[in-house]
Amino acid sequence: MIRRNTNQSQIVYKSIELMGHTTSEKLIEYINSNYENISLATIYRNLSKLLDEGQIRKLRLGNDEIYETVKETHYHFKCQICGNIYDIEPKMISIPNIKEVDGNDVTNTDIMMEGICKNCKKIS
Ligand SMILES: [Zn+2]
Ligand SMILES: [Zn+2]
Repeated sequence: MIRRNTNQSQIVYKSIELMGHTTSEKLIEYINSNYENISLATIYRNLSKLLDEGQIRKLRLGNDEIYETVKETHYHFKCQICGNIYDIEPKMISIPNIKEVDGNDVTNTDIMMEGICKNCKKIS
């Protein structure tokens, strides 16, 4: 039983890793077409387990909740046309290293950009 749960959480983790960024709906679609017999409840249970363990994180991008595996600090760019989400490394953009704002200490910065991605620019 323990072994089975471990495998299922690995399937969920691997799927997120392969997809890069995914909503829970797309993740469920992906798992159901690549693996058999994993119920919705099991997928959701493993999502919250992986979140608790700090192996994945959940981002809010616009109206979507996006899951990704935990990687080095990075920001996000979402294409308004194809909906793809791109990881943006901090060194790609110049942002000031803000330590304090309006009397509050800053420990984490998140940046979310939207626009038209390089692939969609080529097509249009
Ligand atoms: Zn695009
Ligand atoms: Zn990301």
